[in-house]
Amino acid sequence: MRVTLGAPSLRHFAPWGLDQRVKLILPHGSDPATDENRPWRGLFSDEVDGISAPEWRAALGRLTPADRHLARTYTTGAVRPGECEIDIDFFIHHPAGPASSWAASAAPGDRILVSGPDVRADDRRHGIQWRPAEPPAVVLLLGDETAIPAINGIVASLGADTRGTVIVEADDRSSCPPIENVPAGVTVRHVTRDRGRPGEALGAAVASWAVSDAHGARSAGTGFAAWIAAESSAVSGLSAAVAETGIPRERIHRQGYWRAEGREARN
Ligand SMILES: Cc1cc2nc3c(=O)[nH]c(=O)nc-3n(C[C@H](O)[C@H](O)[C@H](O)COP(=O)(O)OP(=O)(O)OC[C@H]3O[C@@H](n4cnc5c(N)ncnc54)[C@H](O)[C@@H]3O)c2cc1C
Repeated sequence: MRVTLGAPSLRHFAPWGLDQRVKLILPHGSDPATDENRPWRGLFSDEVDGISAPEWRAALGRLTPADRHLARTYTTGAVRPGECEIDIDFFIHHPAGPASSWAASAAPGDRILVSGPDVRADDRRHGIQWRPAEPPAVVLLLGDETAIPAINGIVASLGADTRGTVIVEADDRSSCPPIENVPAGVTVRHVTRDRGRPGEALGAAVASWAVSDAHGARSAGTGFAAWIAAESSAVSGLSAAVAETGIPRERIHRQGYWRAEGREARN
């Protein structure tokens, strides 16, 4: 579900792309005691633009656990500073958690807090994990539905002569947004879970990548970069499988994007 967020302050939102993560802080519903709709009650007055990350984290920390707003991590898709808009693509998992429920029922006029990069800070690394040693000649990008916005951001940054492989795991390929603007030398593969554990189909796909493509990846030296984002307990196994082909670990970035049980993956 693509949600377009708009606010005057988004004219300062940095359009760095790649796997730029943001924090979304979910609103409270209306207060049943007063029937008052103050989504940030206990946290801020209604004017929230320009609050720094340390400020909102401290304000959240002062609330009791029962009153504390929930925060979740997402990726910015399109950023349109001129229109004061950003897009966030939410994967609506089932049963939905608070963030995906918010997105599934979002309607024009609903509000959410976004903590993201400010172009005036000119920090092109904050919240960005894709940091290859050099513009990569060969890539391996592995992810699931939650990683598609980040994969699209990374793919958009690749040179036209980049080679490599993108592998996306999903329950249902037809519900996945497409990977766009893929260089001609980069192959996109979709694999389905078929009731397997999260990351299992990616693991099988990495095994076949190891046979057909690992040699070329090794030969590219520092010109090779791998990026992995999927269910937390799966990513270390996927990273190990890539490393076992002789790829140095520093060329493999990995991050858990969600946890099969319990709270959101920490990052
Ligand atoms: C850096 C980063 C970037 C991310 N970018 C995106 C993005 O752009 N789009 C996006 O959709 N997600 C993204 N995610 C993943 C997202 O933060 C998690 O899926 C998050 O748990 C969703 O919050 P929730 O409130 O819906 O569910 P939670 O309250 O966190 O979880 C509730 C239940 O749902 C389950 N659950 C959570 N996520 C999934 C899932 N993907 N599939 C199946 N079950 C799940 C949990 O196991 C838990 O049992 C990103 C995560 C990180 C760390």
